[in-house]
Amino acid sequence: AAKHLGRNTFHFYDAGMQKEADHFVHLHHEILKGIEQRQFFLVYQPIFDVAARRFSKGEALVRWQHPERGLISPFDFIPVAERTGAIRPLGQWILQQAIADMQLFQQLGLDLQISVNRSSQEFNQSKVADDWLAQLSAAGLLPEQLILEITESVFMDTVSVQQSNVLSLHQQGVKLAIDDFGTGYSALNYLSRYPVDFIKIDKSFINHIAEQDKACALVAVLINMAKVLDVQVVAEGVETREQFDLLLKLGCDYIQGYYCARPLAKADFVSLVQQPQAFI
Ligand code: C2E
Ligand code: MG
Ligand code: MG
Ligand code: MG
Repeated sequence: AAKHLGRNTFHFYDAGMQKEADHFVHLHHEILKGIEQRQFFLVYQPIFDVAARRFSKGEALVRWQHPERGLISPFDFIPVAERTGAIRPLGQWILQQAIADMQLFQQLGLDLQISVNRSSQEFNQSKVADDWLAQLSAAGLLPEQLILEITESVFMDTVSVQQSNVLSLHQQGVKLAIDDFGTGYSALNYLSRYPVDFIKIDKSFINHIAEQDKACALVAVLINMAKVLDVQVVAEGVETREQFDLLLKLGCDYIQGYYCARPLAKADFVSLVQQPQAFI
């Protein structure tokens, strides 16, 4: 629509696009205001360690308690934050909060690794690796206590600053997990080329393993492939006893999902990981 209007015009967008752009600008400011006014908070979902028979990890998941709109899911604001650039200040807040929480967990004597989600845009600035490592060390934490969840796209991207940040973080001890494994790019060769510690098999692969032989066979292949490559496997979205038992039989290393525990407020997370687990 913009083309035939000629060069000397601001009418680049049609009305719909303009409305969407306004909406994005609005949300961008709402997110920045939300950070300032402490409307965001983190919950933690315990991750069951099959070998250790206990919760040895937790995933930090962000929530937005909006003063008018109520509780907003990250599915609704993370994609917007990624598009407007608000993900950088938001992600910075998330990591800072997660590190403060990790410090508390350590003071309580808990032996835990915490997994934090990162959007690929957060790796764009050349100094982020050093910044994050400095934050960990200032909190008295080892890099090995932090797992960063990234998606396959980081390794496909030609933006090499992202890759060099990821490599530098890993070189200094931070662990790397591929989130939503299998849902994005189908290329797998990055698994042998990059230092991946964990793959998180997406819930969509787990959903039908108890009823469908092919779904089960596919997950078995993913777990075996990971073993060959010396990568640990986390199954996501495990909701039933049948799925849990099957995954243990297939040699899955970690289980995450409502069957074991929902994402929890920090205090509930702390008390749960301290208890012996009844569901085993
Ligand atoms: P994800 O990283 O793949 O996180 C797993 C999501 O699955 C979480 O949703 C979790 O609550 C949900 N889940 C876990 N177990 C089950 C289960 O058994 N059944 C079902 N139906 N769902 C389960 P949540 O917290 O709504 O987060 C959604 C997505 O938003 C995350 O997916 C992640 O991609 C993104 N996200 C969340 N927190 C952050 C963050 O701090 N930074 C960034 N960049 N993204 C985040
Ligand atoms: Mg995740
Ligand atoms: Mg995930
Ligand atoms: Mg997911």
